[in-house]
Amino acid sequence: MTPNDSTVPLAPLDRDRFPADPWKLIDRIYNEDNLGLAETLFAVGNGYLGMRGNHPEGRVNHQHGTYINGLHETWQIRHAEQAFGFAETGQTIVNVPDAKVIRLYVDDEPLALDVAELLEYNRELDFADGVLRRHLRWLTPSGKHVRVTADRMVSFVERHLAVMRFEVVVEDADAPVVISCQVINRQDGEDEYGSSRQKNPGGFDPRKAETIGERVLQPELYWQDGNRSALSYRITQSRMTVGVMADHIIETENDVVTRHSIQADRSKNVFRVQAKAGVPITLTKVVSYHSSRGVPPHELLDRCERTLDRVAAEGVERQYEKQREWFDGFWERSDVEIPHDPELQQAVRWNIFQLAQATARADTLGVAAKGVTGSGYSGHYFWDTEIYVIPFLTYTNPQFARNALSMREGMLPAARQRARELNEAGALYPWRTINGEEASAYYAAGTAQYHINADITFALAKYVRATGDVDFLARGAADIAVETARLWTTLGFWRRNEADTFHIHGVTGPDEYTTVVNDNLFTNTMARFNLRYAAESVRLIEKYFPEAFQRMVDRLGLDMYELVEWERAADAMHIPYAENIGIHPQDAHFLEREVWDLPATPEDKKPLLLHFHPLVIYRFQVLKQADVVLALFLHGDEFTQDEKQADFDYYDPLTTGDSTLSAVVQSIVAAEIGYRDLALRYFEHSLYVDLADLHANTADGVHVASVGGVWSALVYGFGGMRDFDGRLTFDPRLPASWPELRFRVQWHRSSLVVTVTRDSMRIELRTGDGVDFSVRGADFTVRSGEPVTVPLDGQGPFLAGAPTTRSRVENRREDGTLITASVPTMPALPLE
Ligand code: BGC
Repeated sequence: MTPNDSTVPLAPLDRDRFPADPWKLIDRIYNEDNLGLAETLFAVGNGYLGMRGNHPEGRVNHQHGTYINGLHETWQIRHAEQAFGFAETGQTIVNVPDAKVIRLYVDDEPLALDVAELLEYNRELDFADGVLRRHLRWLTPSGKHVRVTADRMVSFVERHLAVMRFEVVVEDADAPVVISCQVINRQDGEDEYGSSRQKNPGGFDPRKAETIGERVLQPELYWQDGNRSALSYRITQSRMTVGVMADHIIETENDVVTRHSIQADRSKNVFRVQAKAGVPITLTKVVSYHSSRGVPPHELLDRCERTLDRVAAEGVERQYEKQREWFDGFWERSDVEIPHDPELQQAVRWNIFQLAQATARADTLGVAAKGVTGSGYSGHYFWDTEIYVIPFLTYTNPQFARNALSMREGMLPAARQRARELNEAGALYPWRTINGEEASAYYAAGTAQYHINADITFALAKYVRATGDVDFLARGAADIAVETARLWTTLGFWRRNEADTFHIHGVTGPDEYTTVVNDNLFTNTMARFNLRYAAESVRLIEKYFPEAFQRMVDRLGLDMYELVEWERAADAMHIPYAENIGIHPQDAHFLEREVWDLPATPEDKKPLLLHFHPLVIYRFQVLKQADVVLALFLHGDEFTQDEKQADFDYYDPLTTGDSTLSAVVQSIVAAEIGYRDLALRYFEHSLYVDLADLHANTADGVHVASVGGVWSALVYGFGGMRDFDGRLTFDPRLPASWPELRFRVQWHRSSLVVTVTRDSMRIELRTGDGVDFSVRGADFTVRSGEPVTVPLDGQGPFLAGAPTTRSRVENRREDGTLITASVPTMPALPLE
């Protein structure tokens, strides 16, 4: 489903099954269609540890998944044809032993959701406290009514902790009840109940994780002690280690016998209960996971013990309270309200909740493309973090932004090494990675995306300018800006003509349907910023932190003449422009191609990446995702309104949106230039990318960049916020059908609540010092107890409809030839 057609349903969820609730995602009909989707939507995680929404009974599933951010296996990439500098080591996130499993038997009959007669069923993911709760009533084959209430929480306060509670009441009869709690290594073990994913792998899809054939988790120490079970492993190639430990607490007035057993790949703690009618049985499973790059497994188990002992001392209830308090603070800082519409509100909060789940306790690990909700994209970190997630973090939870940037600082040694391999100075960040090394096997759409260097510096600048945390730069983060700038000076080169210009050749921009090009507009614009910001950050440190400055000069061998060189290159950066069409070409040769006629392309041939060889795609003007249009947003102060409209009109109809990173950007730029309906349509598409599985792969995990982009579309798009050069400005674009939009942002440690209505904008200072800002060019200062209300004369320009290729005037290249549109030939395949 493409976002720029009008077929996106406005109410894409089945509301009988998933009723609207502003604070919860509710599932009230048990249904096995698209199990993988529900597992992702109901996953719980804290950015370090993630558990998919598998039912505790652990049977029918798409994929039982438990992930620890960064815990990965490595493997030798086998290129059919090797070449110098190709990525050598693959990295794949590991499915760690599954502690979600709690199996129930009544009269020795298992509760198996796929066959059980369920009289009641309700499952809720509560955004206000991050707890997944499930309630059901089961009519057993022998006619007994059994109430089962379960919950699951991954703690945001105790990073290594998950807690599950499982309460059973046989309502109307006595019965033998067995609760079997297990921890299972599913990464290597046979899944005795089969998973739809394994049975039906679904064919080729580069967005999924690789399957590793060899054994991954090598068992180390494992033991049981009373109701405590411990398993630990070393990962075969990467040598990373992981330990998991589970405590089991049974509470009931019924008679109980406990049994336990353990093998290398499975522990069992089994409770046999003689249940009396109406007498509850409560089982609490408290689990701790610890992982490391190489700490011996027994040491990890010691750490697990310490976590569990602390919980035992504090009590389980307290963990839920602490979680609630944590989320009160999170929402206070991060909520975005659309008060009139509970359906939109629910979807908005689900998206923001996902940002908490992907980032909060990642601490100084990265943020994977799927967070910790699935194994898609192998658990890798991409530019998604810097361009789509860090803006949200910077404005709501700046410490998390700082953490994510520290991760990049930690990767500098590997990035320097990579730059050497590619014959460049400075540092080159990997396009995709977990451990800092390049893991992209396909260089054209991978390593060639040099723009990641500038994306990281861009995020760093955004963080520093919005928080004022120059200290972070001085402590070493400025090295990122310096080393990435150095790369541009050697990758780029000068063309000496009447006006000397600086060029960057042989790179790929964000649009992966056009690769290895010269002077990609996005890359050049971002590199220009990178070069300037490197100089700016060095001068800031020189001015405010002279000692740190000296250390930096020594550490980096920095010559102040370099700053002059960076700024000269930036000032002379070539920004391609096609006079005769009046647009910025995506790259030097983009307009030489013919246009791919998207409206004439059969729906069953989309997304293009799953149906056409890259070479077929590369020879057309067709975009996977916003490229020039993303530059228009990120560097909006460097383009005029007319340029923005001309570029948007040209590129929007060529953009497939086959990447979920696209629609959010198209929404923001459409809102700015006045395509109000289109902006809303792109926004709603993005909002429901996962909730309605619009790209048919949410089963592999949440699209974290898109959820970050949803926040950006709300705050930058409709809220009209911009922060060019460290100045806070607003020019709102409230959608016609919305009476109000409210969001919170932090600026230099002050927190603001911004409310946009149809005819005014109100800014209130909640904490901190006064903040200067401007609204549509007029300057204001907001102080404590003195909210500022600015009248708004409408919501910006209005452009009807949406640009289309068909309505576009004839476009001719500089040589006079007409740009034509067509689809590739699609010969019928011979019958087998
Ligand atoms: C997009 C990239 C993105 C990656 C991970 C790809 O489909 O084209 O821009 O970084 O997905 O989300």
